[in-house]
Amino acid sequence: MERHHNYIAGKWAPSRTGNYYQSHNPACPSQILGEFPRSDAADVDAAVASASTARAIWEQIQAPQRAAILLRFSQLLQDSKDELARIITLEQGKALCESAGEVARAAAEAAFAAGEAVRLSGQTFPSERRGFSCYTVLQPVGVVAAITPWNFPVVSPVRKIAPALACGNTVVLKPASLTPRSAVYLASLLEEAGLPPGVLNLVIGSGECGQRLISDTRVRGISFTGSTAVGVCISEQVAARMAKLQLELGGKNPAIVLDCDDLDGAAQEIVAAAFLCSGQRCTALSRVIVQESQADEIRQHLVKHMEKIRVGNGLDPQTTMGPLVSRHQLETVAGYVRKGLNDQSTLVAGGQQLTESPESEGYYYAPTLFDYVSADSALAQEEIFGPVLPMIRVRNAEQALEVANGARYGLAASLFTGNRHLVDKFVQHVESGMVHVNHGTASQAHVPFGGVKDSGLGAFSIGPTAKDAFTNVKAVYIKW
Ligand code: NAP
Ligand code: MG
Repeated sequence: MERHHNYIAGKWAPSRTGNYYQSHNPACPSQILGEFPRSDAADVDAAVASASTARAIWEQIQAPQRAAILLRFSQLLQDSKDELARIITLEQGKALCESAGEVARAAAEAAFAAGEAVRLSGQTFPSERRGFSCYTVLQPVGVVAAITPWNFPVVSPVRKIAPALACGNTVVLKPASLTPRSAVYLASLLEEAGLPPGVLNLVIGSGECGQRLISDTRVRGISFTGSTAVGVCISEQVAARMAKLQLELGGKNPAIVLDCDDLDGAAQEIVAAAFLCSGQRCTALSRVIVQESQADEIRQHLVKHMEKIRVGNGLDPQTTMGPLVSRHQLETVAGYVRKGLNDQSTLVAGGQQLTESPESEGYYYAPTLFDYVSADSALAQEEIFGPVLPMIRVRNAEQALEVANGARYGLAASLFTGNRHLVDKFVQHVESGMVHVNHGTASQAHVPFGGVKDSGLGAFSIGPTAKDAFTNVKAVYIKW
């Protein structure tokens, strides 16, 4: 079995602890995929020291050269799409076509970030006083910690690493411990793209490594994607030392159906956005809020489209929905379904674990739909992060908006309607970072991405706002 290592100062570095753990295939947990370091504080310290030292080297590299390295990285991602997609599916479980899409998306975001290196412009200002020049420049933050979740093992790290490097920072990546193989692959591609030693460092290990990283005062910027619970802990800790912080957190994203003239089309969009990645997407549609008079009909269409989902091993080309990522995730989902069965809601479809074949112990769960869910129940309020979709029936547009905004999260929201007046109202009043009308919650590779309320803090990632997380503004006054 292959043993993988950390990547520190341009070298594959065995963990100083000497301890390794095994990662598993969620479609077939008895299949061990590799051994990975169980790093500790000493490994994290070495990675931060390496990133600190490399700052001087990276600052000497001019922006067009940084862009060229990132463009090579983007090309390498495209060239290795098949191999990397297979790695994602093996360790994360999602269907192979989704994994291929994730790699393509990461390549597109890296290409955009490459261009940003040469677009890091400041502003010039007229002066109050004669003989002065006033302008701003954007400078790197310094050492950046990138801490990423397991649901997008390639896109999530690239979304942080590429813009951070473009802006002239050095990086320490701490990937989710469930999906380390993709991170190892990314580090090797960056090395192949010509990134100087120490500019990107990879430390594999548990959340304690993340904890150590954020408490290191040499780390001046932190970009974290993960659960709101961990995000809040990080925010509290980082407040004490004023490091720059970007948090991308959970969601409870509503699909609102009101005066909709294409319920079949709406259901198709909702099912795709709810069950992609087995519902383990921060932007998954995870509540359907529907006006009473359209509820029966959309429910029929939802069931029809859910029946087309083929649950199975992600490597099988017929599969459209893979297993959940872990036993823990499977048990969490089963726990929410039990709660749903215990309150007054109606189970319409799914509601049980699936075994793909008698000998498979994969973490498969059936696409699940509940109706008559009350807006204040756990199913309607909490991020389940699995293939469970609750339907909440409402009287009118006012109540739909009130229910949509009645959750702690504010990441993405979709409205399905033919009513132009409702579109304006929804776009203006829905409390979310991203709003979609008449399609599911699919983002694009150059458009800002982020959330409000408990879904995020700091600059939006992707597109032109990403640089705000990875640069500091410096105002310059020169007297001639
Ligand atoms: P998580 O448990 O919060 O973990 C995220 C990362 O933080 C992992 O690398 C984890 O390490 C590490 N970590 C855990 N405890 C830490 C601590 N105390 N200090 C520093 N780092 C720590 O999230 P997850 O379960 O991997 O991912 C699912 C969550 O991510 C969902 O809530 C989802 O909504 C959110 N998400 C948000 C977005 C977005 O853009 N808004 C995108 C994707 C996912 P270990 O893996 O070793 O525990
Ligand atoms: Mg977790």
